[in-house]
Amino acid sequence: MPDLTDRVVLVTGGSRGIGAATAIAAATAGADVAIGYREQAVAADSVVAGIRDLGRQAVAVQADVSDPHGAEQIVREVEDTFGSIDGLVNNAGIMPSSPLTDMSNDEWTAVLQTNLSGPFYCSRAALPGMLRRGRGSIVMISSRLAQVGWPELAHYAASKAGLLGLTKSMAREYGSAGIRVNAVAPGFTITDMTRHIVDTDAGRRRLAELPAPRFPEPEDVAAAVVFLLSDQATAFHGQTLNPNGGGFMQ
Ligand code: NAP
Repeated sequence: MPDLTDRVVLVTGGSRGIGAATAIAAATAGADVAIGYREQAVAADSVVAGIRDLGRQAVAVQADVSDPHGAEQIVREVEDTFGSIDGLVNNAGIMPSSPLTDMSNDEWTAVLQTNLSGPFYCSRAALPGMLRRGRGSIVMISSRLAQVGWPELAHYAASKAGLLGLTKSMAREYGSAGIRVNAVAPGFTITDMTRHIVDTDAGRRRLAELPAPRFPEPEDVAAAVVFLLSDQATAFHGQTLNPNGGGFMQ
């Protein structure tokens, strides 16, 4: 079992889905946990209550990570509350879909700003504190679609592929300073982002692609993230773990 005792973990997009499961898993492993969210305060409060029920400290911060000031605000508030951030999980993301020829500039920009620039802004804000302490673990939530591409999700796949380049570059830049940067690339995971697809023909086709007929749950992804946050993963730098049910094999 990975141990995060005495660690502070910030999970962006922690109000729902993979982020909420990661926040609870990190608290179960012993961390105090801060979650970020954009709009859904009730959901965020429920995750905070779940973390406190586990005997850990928790706080929720509303901020838009696609805005550099929002990303700086969330990091500052968490550092002011807990004194440090040992683990940063860049999880907040959106997935609208459009054929490329119909894709508006605004939709393209919103996806890139949230899914790629957001992790850059949050990491840039959290790194100085990690560098001062000489330790930290950053985990980017990428996607299987970064590895295989997907029709009508070109912006999403591009943003998530960009995250893998960001991950490897940061891992090389800061590994010698005690900071590890890795990625997790989930496959189709049942959350608010995907639930509407499960019982469609497209969902059934995607299930049929998997070696075992089961879509991963958010907790499956959270387990990989908590491992990367922990000292059990000290040999992992710039790596991508793939809790995808076998939908993509490297
Ligand atoms: P989800 O259930 O839709 O939750 C998205 C989370 O991100 C929510 O907490 C939301 O906050 C937050 N968020 C969105 N935009 C934000 C912004 N601009 N600023 C701050 N917070 C923002 O999504 P999910 O399925 O758990 O996905 C989590 C991550 O995993 C995403 O990066 C997604 O791309 C990735 N992923 C998901 C799957 C999948 O199949 N589900 C597969 C591969 C990768 P509010 O609650 O306030 O709206």
